[in-house]
Amino acid sequence: MAYPSADDAAGAWAWAMRQQPLAAQYEYASGIVPTAGGFEYSEPRTSHRASEFKVPLPANMTAFVHNHSTAGAGKSDEHFSRNDILVAKLLKRPSYVAAPSGAVFRYDPSTSKIEEVLSLIDQNQLPKRLPDPRERIAELMTK
Ligand SMILES: [Zn+2]
Repeated sequence: MAYPSADDAAGAWAWAMRQQPLAAQYEYASGIVPTAGGFEYSEPRTSHRASEFKVPLPANMTAFVHNHSTAGAGKSDEHFSRNDILVAKLLKRPSYVAAPSGAVFRYDPSTSKIEEVLSLIDQNQLPKRLPDPRERIAELMTK
């Protein structure tokens, strides 16, 4: 489905990943890609590591998003790691992180600014509108 902005797509992704039990253990990442009527996120992928993601991301992404797992979460996990900043600079695209607290932050390498993302989408609408990511992830993991 299309979200009106990349921020909203990242916010929806963060919400969906909070429903995915394995995201407490592992980092997942998706690209935020343009679509008819706005933005959507690509299939969440994980390399089954607690503190990094090494997954293919779509070439046409305008931004990308990953979560920090809650396994062994420390204060620094609320923020972009030094590596996160480096990856965003290399990819030359804004990076979103879904922190263990539920907050979502955006780092824009073109301005070096980090801002908290306040998504305007109605979170109450999401369970009805989003496909259950657990089914697709379970399906992908069996491949
Ligand atoms: Zn990170």
